[in-house]
Amino acid sequence: MKKILIIYTGGTIGMDYTENGLAPVAGLLKSQIDTLEPMSGVTIELLEYEQLIDSSDIRLEHWQRIIQDISDNYEIYDGFVIIHGTDTMAYTASVLSFALRGLDKPVVLTGSQLPLVHRRSDGWSNLIDALFAANRSDLNEVAIAFNNKLLRGCRAQKVSTYRFFGFDSVDEEPLAEFGIQINWFNKRWLKANRFSFAPVMPKESKILDLSMRPGFTTEFIIDTLNNADLDAVVLQTYGSGNIPIHNTQLVNALKSAVERGIIIVNITQVIEGRVSNDYASSCLHDLGIISGCDMTIEATLAKLLVLRSTGMSLTNIKAAMSENLVGELTEG
Ligand code: ASP
Repeated sequence: MKKILIIYTGGTIGMDYTENGLAPVAGLLKSQIDTLEPMSGVTIELLEYEQLIDSSDIRLEHWQRIIQDISDNYEIYDGFVIIHGTDTMAYTASVLSFALRGLDKPVVLTGSQLPLVHRRSDGWSNLIDALFAANRSDLNEVAIAFNNKLLRGCRAQKVSTYRFFGFDSVDEEPLAEFGIQINWFNKRWLKANRFSFAPVMPKESKILDLSMRPGFTTEFIIDTLNNADLDAVVLQTYGSGNIPIHNTQLVNALKSAVERGIIIVNITQVIEGRVSNDYASSCLHDLGIISGCDMTIEATLAKLLVLRSTGMSLTNIKAAMSENLVGELTEG
């Protein structure tokens, strides 16, 4: 008999309509799951957190708890399903993708746009698809099951607040499609791990998410870049990696930050595509700024957070930011 552990952190799926609006209700998800027909050959157990949250409240401590719970139960279960709110699911999926090093079991996140108590809830199919994915012994990665698709966790992003099509991974094909039949695209899955499971506990990092916007106040940005506590910057640039190169104050501030040992990673703020060196205004590598290729903002922040928690040297972290570790970027 195989065993799957559902870790329930909160989110709309297990919420109910209260006087103050939708809110998580302890025990509700369990009572709903108990009505499900058993999956043949699989035992399902539920670990419900004492403090169920709307995922907009997620903090470093919650990620540490999820990682600890997976680690503590790693040998007991064959797969894990994480029930999570949709607002920050892509961030948690990204953190888990990097933190669960050497993963050789499925960890599948899911949630829903409408709660299970709603007659038209998308939660049932999402939950069942997640359980099917968590039951695959050849899936060695973190994924999101949502709206009839299985997406790579470190590639997924929330794309809609109101459609059931809540998540997408624009630069990466889905890992599976749940239709009348299930299409498991297992050629796209990460290969079984050569390393043993060695999770990394993420520690606090001071990472600035800096998006280029026409009309921004240069002085304000420069002050932040000059902050002595800063550890790293994710620079969300225009198009294929462009910044206003004639803004010499900004260019000099970026250069000086790199010289002070701050890791700056360049990703595009455009939904589809990657940073390249096609334009004069994409000269950032000359300043020592690292290309994040086609990584999402969620994956870039998570990768910096986790790599900075490993004790790796600055040089090695910089090199790893442009390397494909867990399917998060397309190299070359
Ligand atoms: N605000 C909710 C959450 O992220 C939204 C959802 O679950 O869909 O917890």
